[in-house]
Amino acid sequence: MSSSTDPAHDVDAVIVGGGFAGLYATHRLRNTLGLTVQSFDAGSGPGGTWYWNRYPGARCDIESIYYSYAFDEDLQREWRWSERFAAQPEILAYLNHVADRYDLRRSYEFDTRVTSAVWSDVDKLWTVTTDTGRSVTTRFLIGATGGLSVAKKDDFPGIADFRGEVYHTSSWPEHVDLTGKRVAVIGTGSTGIQIIPEVARVADQLIVFQRTPNFACPIGNRPTTDEEWEDTVANYRAIRTQSRSTYGGLPYPAAQPSALAVDEKTRREVYDRYYNGGGFRMVTSTFNDILFDLQANDTVADYIREKIRERVNDPEVARILTPGDDHPYGTKRAPFETNYYETFNRDNVKLVDVRATPIETITPTGLRTSADDHEFDVLILATGFDALTGPLIALNLVGRDGVRLADAWADGPRSYLGLAVHGFPNFFTIVGPQSPSVLTNFPVSIQEHVDWVSDAITTMRERGASTIEAAAESVETWTNLVNGIAACTLYPLAKSSWYMGANIPGKPRTVLLFLAGLPLYNAICAEVAATDYGGFSIDGTTAPTPGLIELDPAMAVLAGGLMIGDTGPLETAPLEVLRAIMGGTMPAPDRPSVRAVDTSYSSRGSELPARIFVPADKGGDSLPVVVFLHGGGWIAGNINAAAGICLALASELGAVVISPSYRLAPEHPFPAAIHDAIAALSWAAEVAAEHGGDKRRLAVVGESAGGTLAAIAAQQLRDAGGPPLAAGALIYPPIDPQASTASRLRYRNGPILSAALLDRMWSTYLGDARNDQSSLADPSKAKSLEGLPPTLVVTVELDPSRDESEDYARQLAHAGVATEIVRISGLAHGTLPMSALVPRASEILEAVVAFLRAHLTAPQPAASRLPSQSDPAYGITTV
Ligand code: NAP
Repeated sequence: MSSSTDPAHDVDAVIVGGGFAGLYATHRLRNTLGLTVQSFDAGSGPGGTWYWNRYPGARCDIESIYYSYAFDEDLQREWRWSERFAAQPEILAYLNHVADRYDLRRSYEFDTRVTSAVWSDVDKLWTVTTDTGRSVTTRFLIGATGGLSVAKKDDFPGIADFRGEVYHTSSWPEHVDLTGKRVAVIGTGSTGIQIIPEVARVADQLIVFQRTPNFACPIGNRPTTDEEWEDTVANYRAIRTQSRSTYGGLPYPAAQPSALAVDEKTRREVYDRYYNGGGFRMVTSTFNDILFDLQANDTVADYIREKIRERVNDPEVARILTPGDDHPYGTKRAPFETNYYETFNRDNVKLVDVRATPIETITPTGLRTSADDHEFDVLILATGFDALTGPLIALNLVGRDGVRLADAWADGPRSYLGLAVHGFPNFFTIVGPQSPSVLTNFPVSIQEHVDWVSDAITTMRERGASTIEAAAESVETWTNLVNGIAACTLYPLAKSSWYMGANIPGKPRTVLLFLAGLPLYNAICAEVAATDYGGFSIDGTTAPTPGLIELDPAMAVLAGGLMIGDTGPLETAPLEVLRAIMGGTMPAPDRPSVRAVDTSYSSRGSELPARIFVPADKGGDSLPVVVFLHGGGWIAGNINAAAGICLALASELGAVVISPSYRLAPEHPFPAAIHDAIAALSWAAEVAAEHGGDKRRLAVVGESAGGTLAAIAAQQLRDAGGPPLAAGALIYPPIDPQASTASRLRYRNGPILSAALLDRMWSTYLGDARNDQSSLADPSKAKSLEGLPPTLVVTVELDPSRDESEDYARQLAHAGVATEIVRISGLAHGTLPMSALVPRASEILEAVVAFLRAHLTAPQPAASRLPSQSDPAYGITTV
């Protein structure tokens, strides 16, 4: 990389924007990396959003102690926030302080708008042009433009003829005096909801033109006490760490699993706890399913509707202010307020429903709706923004081959990670579209992004590389993932949310955000960096995209959800936490046609619980019998967690399904579990007839660690001469404690099962490392695999143990066993019990049912159906 003295280019990096993102990027790239930097902002000073949005009542609805930089311990200790939720002037003062403290102003040209940037593929440089006539060449271009910096166009007919004053809240001039005036506000989003009570206090009369009512909750602002402040300073480190493990970078309590799983009283208690002053806790700390399940969402929406009716005196006004079903709560940006609803009880405030009586035109003296003329002196437009894509498109970027960003994004944003765009080398977007962006606490996600970009630039410098660019395929994969995740949520149901680009006429309606949460997103970005910038092309060489990006969208939502919370990584979580997570009962569809019987069996002197599932409507004594061994890494899991799978298996296959527990390590070390699995199979053959089962049609199915046990138990029964098995199905079984396969490496960080967690499970189970070599631990170490029953091995794509499972299947096939491998794309290890949350996980069970149905039909001993050595009946079927 050239330095500033290289005549080839003026600076190493141009940064557009002087808000939280631009200031930190300037600091990081210039002060830490030592790059030459030129930064621009259209404002006359630092502040970005907080420079422009000076309207009365402007305030951040995230607590200041969270909504602030964390990169410098001293900075966060020395800036004492005066209020729980800081108002605009205080945040602006803070950002000015940051600009001074890190000497950032000297890198900025203020009052300067970037008007275009053009990439030269010959020089590998951007040429950035400004409205002051300046032209700067740079290696890197950083769009720190903010998501909400381009206002929605004032497209009201007649507005040019209005004789009064017109203000847009997003470019509010200093010294506006509304005292004693007749004021109108159009718009009741977060901004309108903040400004309306302030205007009502001073104006002679206020008319609010509302198109869509909103679900607003009280913000609960108050001064910060010294005690609180000291407490915060003492705990800042923990606060920041916790922030990074939450959905949106806010250290709020974890939500309960489902609003529908608790009674009305409990639900109310939860909503009461967060309604008054809980801020975004109302969205993120109440119930996990409110953004996924409409019925769950209705419970919170109804609660807020009831509060609105309680707070507004006039029932007709209350009716107009109460949202209907135009958007589920939280799918449009949740607003927070101070006395908003009470404002409509004032005599000087009038509400006009412009959904019922649309605005026809602005007149010279006011506004005409389809029903009335309204007169006023001042018109305030709180009508929102061309969010997220608007500010980047406004840069007029022209990338490789003369492609304009406006054209590349004509159908909606297409990025990689919300950080980079194919065709626009060396251009990075900070908290850009398709990243978690505005659903996060910005200072947290901004820092993550800027640090990531700065690490990428460092890598390039170290290699002497000149370009980094998102590959076209990675953009495709990422866009599909982002859209697929959105489709799992309620967000697309909002009729006019700017999250979906739906507030701007003509803007493509597509989700602008990655909705599976910050922890998964950050893990993906870290994985990209760790895999040699997988999915990026550096100087024309593209490293493969990391597996995490190939997740099935519902799987991504689930994996993202599991990463949220303060349990910490599963690799180091206490055993009881692992057991609670893996032993939790999963939602399962009702199977009224299956009867469950609790019983027990004995194994080596221990009486162990078991459950038998019997299809009620299939009498007789000729049903197939399936023994299902649950997963849990030999150290966790139980028959309750497996109940949903067993019910489904019994019902779909029409089989008696026997679900034995087995003893877990470390209390019962290896080989206790395998002894129990063998005992359970022998017992199942004995009791099959009592439940209408035919022991000649006995199969074993195991999930994960249960799959390993199933494989070994099948070998042991073969060697012991019975009971004979007619078939076996091994669902993503780990095989070899010492495996060093490609999948172990590629999916070493999961999702869900990491290589480290797998190692922990093996070593807790096996104890002594010499047990690794035992065929009672690793089924591939058996002397012979001949004579085993037909076996299905189901693997999932994103699984560190995938390749060893498939290798075992190939070994079986080579030994003449009728073997089938089905690999399911996009899923991770451990998905089967979560089929209710990940619809595609049902494909695992479908494969098992189809295989068993084919092999358990005729009641004959397995030995007579062994395939010949040349039987070609195996291969990988990828679904
Ligand atoms: P917004 O949420 O998009 O709301 C715009 C409002 O204007 C809506 O009520 C919209 O009605 C109405 N509107 C737009 N065009 C209209 C038209 N032609 N006729 C009638 N009504 C019209 O914009 P915003 O309130 O400025 O908020 C934008 C974002 O800024 C927020 O969501 C938030 O992220 C951020 N913000 C944050 C804070 C904070 O505390 N941190 C404060 C303020 C804003 P429809 O809903 O019917 O389209």
